[in-house]
Amino acid sequence: MHLILLGPPGVGKGTEAEILKKHYQIPHISTGNIFRELFQQETEIGKIAKSYIEKGQLVPDDITNEIVRQRLYRDDIKNGFMFDGYPRNVAQAEALDKVLIELGMKLTAVINIQADDELVLSRISGRRVCESCGAVYHTKNKRPKVAGVCDICGGKLIHRDDDKEETVKKRLKIYNDQTAPVVGYYKEKGLLVTIDGSRSISDTNDQIEEALGELK
Ligand SMILES: [Zn+2]
Repeated sequence: MHLILLGPPGVGKGTEAEILKKHYQIPHISTGNIFRELFQQETEIGKIAKSYIEKGQLVPDDITNEIVRQRLYRDDIKNGFMFDGYPRNVAQAEALDKVLIELGMKLTAVINIQADDELVLSRISGRRVCESCGAVYHTKNKRPKVAGVCDICGGKLIHRDDDKEETVKKRLKIYNDQTAPVVGYYKEKGLLVTIDGSRSISDTNDQIEEALGELK
């Protein structure tokens, strides 16, 4: 299975990735994971990437593409891989195509988990996180017994900056401007599988596994 997961922030890609990773025994490759590994190893390219991230800037495409290329040369991808958060624009998708040709690999499918901006916004902006134990709550779907207090440890629930409406709106705009064209790119290649991400995680997962089962 050589998969790419696409979808707006808050659609549950990370959770799906963890389920699929176990199901198909393939590594979950997100650029976030790779960057963290590189920082620990203190490689040259890792240092360059880190200098951008520390300044709050996006790592340029050529550096990200090279990091991904090196990642695909490791042994653990013999059963396949699953990208999440990459490619984030059409230029990266084109670069990935080149690496796959170089390695003699083909994508099995590109899974696009869809949900309306409104839904994603309410899912993320309603999140509250316990500042002590990290437990996650939601103002609509998963309320604590006592408002503002963690059920598990009694810690204070906070609204993280990343989850605030303005931040989420910005991320959605970036997604719609840059990553949504990637969906079209793979659709043209006949690789796109569209999944309705508006319902539960298990429902989304059932749809994905059904679609992939037909491909094998
Ligand atoms: Zn807690």
